[in-house]
Amino acid sequence: MRPTGRLHLGHYHGVLKNWIQLQHEYECFFFVADWHALTTHYDDPVVIEDSVWDMVIDWLAAGVNPGASTLFLQSRVPEHAELHLLLSMMTPLSWLERVPTYKDQQEKLKEKDLSTYGFLGYPLLQSADILAYRAGRVPVGADQEAHIEITREIARRFNHLYGREPGFEMNAETAIDKMGKKTAKLYRQFRRAYVEQGDDEALERAQALLKAQQNITLGDQERLLGYLEGTGKVILTEPQALLTTESKMPGLDGQKMSKSYANTIELRDEPDTIATKIRRMPTDPARIRRNDPGNPDNCPVWQLHQVYSDDARCAWVKDGCKSAGIGCIDCKQPVIEAVVEELTPLRIKARELEDTPDVVRNIMTEGTEKARDEARDTLRDVREAMGLDYR
Ligand code: SF4
Repeated sequence: MRPTGRLHLGHYHGVLKNWIQLQHEYECFFFVADWHALTTHYDDPVVIEDSVWDMVIDWLAAGVNPGASTLFLQSRVPEHAELHLLLSMMTPLSWLERVPTYKDQQEKLKEKDLSTYGFLGYPLLQSADILAYRAGRVPVGADQEAHIEITREIARRFNHLYGREPGFEMNAETAIDKMGKKTAKLYRQFRRAYVEQGDDEALERAQALLKAQQNITLGDQERLLGYLEGTGKVILTEPQALLTTESKMPGLDGQKMSKSYANTIELRDEPDTIATKIRRMPTDPARIRRNDPGNPDNCPVWQLHQVYSDDARCAWVKDGCKSAGIGCIDCKQPVIEAVVEELTPLRIKARELEDTPDVVRNIMTEGTEKARDEARDTLRDVREAMGLDYR
């Protein structure tokens, strides 16, 4: 996540709740993409430091757990930059130019000069962020799928160019024998079925067989994965997108909640601020006077009820609005209460973390060390494959 400072309900419902769930299902790496912030804020970097710590406090307060996942700062893991540089040598310019967000963002952020090398290369930096950890899955919204696709293409191209070690086939055959007679026979059968008949099930079974092998090295395992598909040794893993459903969290004006629309409720807003913000929300313009009937479909408060209220409450809103049986102030009150109830524990936790900045910094230092160990392993293989491991 790019450091954008204090987070709001849109981040909570759209991203953080998902992360909190994922951290119990997968080995997760979540990072502050501070270099990415520079691709669009290179002329105003002071914003970034405060934004980083504010954002991390909100992650932790929301329940992202450093005991269950690895949290780190991108710029403290220089392997991301090295991998980005090395990948840039073999990435065709046209691949970056055709990433849909490249032109879109330039259009949207017209006030900034984004005709920079860093901006063009940011999807490649993102690829390096992913590939440095040989990530299997990346949680993204549909609008980011193209970035995962380019990452896959880059990994494939890298493996194709550099996975062909001298004597690859002979090394692969030796590795097969190391698995023992029975497993070796099965592997050969599955490989033949895939290579000769395109049998995808055989490919999947062979991949599963390899992943379960304890008696071969990781290097041999990767070699045999590459041998299966005819690509050579797999050095960089192709990630899959783990598609997340788009947040339904509306902003105070009914548009998507976003800082740029000034329509947010921040996770650390005090109850009074939350109440004031919701009381000031626009409602159906047809309800000028208390006894004018309205239509919830024309009202952003109704969208909040759909997030926070159960069926009975929603029915109360619909009937009351259409019949003018309730006023807008009455209608907003349960939403205020629900948001305050949801955010109170987060606000208390965030205050504690604000008072103990060392704790927050230590969490990030430890996570960054752990992440760096992983990235170092990948870079060692990448350098070796590219012939850069000489002394
Ligand atoms: S009664 Fe509720 S849904 Fe209807 S216009 Fe007022 S705030 Fe909106």
